[in-house]
Amino acid sequence: MPNRLSYPLHDQLLDPGQTIEVVPGVHWLKMPLPFALNHINLWLLREERGWTVVDTGFDAEDSRALWEQLFSGAMAGLPIQRVVVTHYHPDHIGLADWLAQRFTAPFYCSLGEFASAHAAWHGLPGFDVVALNAHFGRHGLPASKAIQYRERGNSYRFGVKSLPVSFNRILAGDTLAMGGVDWVTIPGYGHSPEHMALYSKEKQCLIAGDMLLPKISTNVGTWATDPDADALKPFLASLDRFLDLPEDTLVLPSHGRPFRGIQPRVAALHAHHQERLGALIAAIQRPMTAFELLPVLFGRVFDLYQTMFALAECIAHLNHLWHAGILRRQQDADLCYRFSRV
Ligand SMILES: [Zn+2]
Repeated sequence: MPNRLSYPLHDQLLDPGQTIEVVPGVHWLKMPLPFALNHINLWLLREERGWTVVDTGFDAEDSRALWEQLFSGAMAGLPIQRVVVTHYHPDHIGLADWLAQRFTAPFYCSLGEFASAHAAWHGLPGFDVVALNAHFGRHGLPASKAIQYRERGNSYRFGVKSLPVSFNRILAGDTLAMGGVDWVTIPGYGHSPEHMALYSKEKQCLIAGDMLLPKISTNVGTWATDPDADALKPFLASLDRFLDLPEDTLVLPSHGRPFRGIQPRVAALHAHHQERLGALIAAIQRPMTAFELLPVLFGRVFDLYQTMFALAECIAHLNHLWHAGILRRQQDADLCYRFSRV
């Protein structure tokens, strides 16, 4: 088994809006993002008379303008025949409705992602900022920061102006015929409710979405809708599903470069999370909140957006240790949860 990742397209420079054919009939398209993670990779699959698009980009003027150029440029004036998204995060689903409506194309995703997208867009109870503040407040986030979240309003709509009102449901293990070959869906949990990666044996590649990234570790979070969840356990189990794929599979991640080396990457991610868990255990010398423990996992200063994801990730790790019986959780008079060693 190779113990390192290889990047077969390492020499290829790809600017936003540009495409490269990574395997026959599968084109890599880079799109800009207006935050620290500065790009997302989308995938265009050539059909006989058009295209299937996997993931769509954040809904912003620059992304729409790049798509307009692509329609007549790299996409040769051929229509989009199907829009598929791996999950409901704005950088993936943001332009799905715009693309589907423009080409009267059917939209595909899992039920978990479809329902979560609508719940987040409408700010339904549990998905709203009030619930988020209450959840994070119980984990020690100071009220001053919570107020700033409240002023921010529904940030989901910032990158998702509208959503498809109907969809074609993808189930785990489904086979989708796209680009002339079969793609099997592989479910993933812990990053989003029901993420779907797509694997093609014929093309020897995996459209991994956010579940398998070459450089950064995927955000694993416990959020307000299921605050007691151990999100890390199903996430790690999801990673193990990829171990059955052939070693020479080309992984097409949503961020970073296409790479080979699923097995060493999954091993490295397991090691990473075990190390983080160990660091948390070592740091807990008295009952502590998730917010107090944030520097153990993320030793740097955060903006609000990053704090949100970092705190959700910290809670996921602490809940994992709590569920495993390694930590105990108490709720104090200030209503904050504090974790201590058993
Ligand atoms: Zn995501």
